[in-house]
Amino acid sequence: MVEKWLEDLESCQLCEHRCRVNRLQGEKGVCCMTFPVVASACLHPAPPKSYTVFTAGCNFKCVNCQNWTISQYPDNGQSVRGSIGPQELASECLEQLHSFVGRLMGADRLFFSGGEPTIHLPYIEEVVRNARISAPDTKVNFDTNGYLTEESLERVLRFTTSITFDLKAFHNEVHRAITGADAQPVLRNARHIATYARDKLWEFRIPVIPGVNEGEIEPLCQFIADVDSSLPVCFLAFRPNFLLEEHPGATFKLMERCVATGRKVGLRSMYWSGQANISGKVREIDAAVEDYYQHPEARLAASYALRGGCATHPRECKICDFRNQCRVKRYIPHRST
Ligand code: SF4
Ligand code: SF4
Repeated sequence: MVEKWLEDLESCQLCEHRCRVNRLQGEKGVCCMTFPVVASACLHPAPPKSYTVFTAGCNFKCVNCQNWTISQYPDNGQSVRGSIGPQELASECLEQLHSFVGRLMGADRLFFSGGEPTIHLPYIEEVVRNARISAPDTKVNFDTNGYLTEESLERVLRFTTSITFDLKAFHNEVHRAITGADAQPVLRNARHIATYARDKLWEFRIPVIPGVNEGEIEPLCQFIADVDSSLPVCFLAFRPNFLLEEHPGATFKLMERCVATGRKVGLRSMYWSGQANISGKVREIDAAVEDYYQHPEARLAASYALRGGCATHPRECKICDFRNQCRVKRYIPHRST
């Protein structure tokens, strides 16, 4: 008999890949995850200060992934904590949050990140439900790439106090080349939260990758400003990693330019963070991808993906024949910054 909270996994449509696989029977969709797995958990000082649970696996295969050891699990052979019952994790979360160190740090909420927590949504709901039995005021942050179905987003809005939301590209072609998935559901969900759940939006987070999504910064800022110019935005300086291990990091100047761009289109609440000016070398665009992408930045991102093993162009993990044996997920970088 399947526990009620696991029923969604019998025909999984938690994210917009809508794979409809039976994860309880071991079938795998784009995320390649069956049962919920926790990669790690710790008190985390980054705002909002929290006890952060990093769930394993992701529905994206981003060329720039900073958390590839977690997100591309289980195919990359990296070790993680494993399966933890929702009640057990809820007890651990509360204990840590209310510990001496947690209070000293000012941690005031649980924070679910990954990977992508959406792919384990029923599990997270169950952890939160258990935590709130003994501590009803427990605050919860959901950190997402935004590729949720509308139904999943409604569920997330029901239990969250705050949401941190990544935006990687505005144009579909560039978003697909970077992540393997469409931009439209991400933008739809971003607009929905900004319009109907403004109080829950902690901030939009935009990774800034030189030459890969630099041209996307202005349209993304304009998109946000068109909804509400007071929405909070954080630009994250890209650090060379994963398939972009040799690529140069974002420069200090570029990060300052992003803030100026946001200001130019009317945004009023912005900052940037991360380590800038890490050296690297931009690789050449691969002739094999040129016919599949019009946009130069999409071509560059796709070239990195191709070299990392991505077999389908234009990239689209949802319909890719190799989605269960994707070589990108097994890529191990030599350099990590
Ligand atoms: S990629 Fe999304 S829809 Fe597909 S199995 Fe994973 S969570 Fe479910
Ligand atoms: S090979 Fe297929 S599943 Fe893997 S990243 Fe490329 S498009 Fe996505």
